[in-house]
Amino acid sequence: MEISKELADAINDQINFELYSAYIYLSMAAWLEENNLPGMAHWMEVQFNEEYAHAIRFYRHIIERGGRVIFKAIDAPQTDWASALDVFETAYEHEKVVTARIYKIGEIANKEGDKGAQSMLQWFYKEQVEEEKNTSEIRDNLKRAGDSRQILFMLDRELGARPPAPAPPLDSMAP
Ligand code: MG
Repeated sequence: MEISKELADAINDQINFELYSAYIYLSMAAWLEENNLPGMAHWMEVQFNEEYAHAIRFYRHIIERGGRVIFKAIDAPQTDWASALDVFETAYEHEKVVTARIYKIGEIANKEGDKGAQSMLQWFYKEQVEEEKNTSEIRDNLKRAGDSRQILFMLDRELGARPPAPAPPLDSMAP
């Protein structure tokens, strides 16, 4: 079953949004580097790579299903934040937007009875639970740290240990 135009359009938009997300996280990484938080910057660089891999996963799904990939301009990301807490609060809010968008794509797939797309989207539903959990946990830890430079330093160390993101998947159904 070839992918519908409506679903391919929605997934094309999502490829753009995943790349925009990657851009935001790299912008956050740059801000964190500037503000002497190299561990948090590393965490955001890993996040940048994850979002890039998400874009590739959606990209491959359109190709595998015989649809057309159409790219559009990517919006400029935010470049300034008030604090590390503000960075992670923004990241958490952004991930909630991503989740809502992916659920909308799921509604189109359900309406069309497109089981191939439904199955591909299952991976993203789980991934979004993880993304929201990770960003909100770090946000909570930063809230608790308050003005303590020492706790901020420790959190930075801890986040600097995040393992690298896996390479972009070779197909949209990769585990
Ligand atoms: Mg993503």
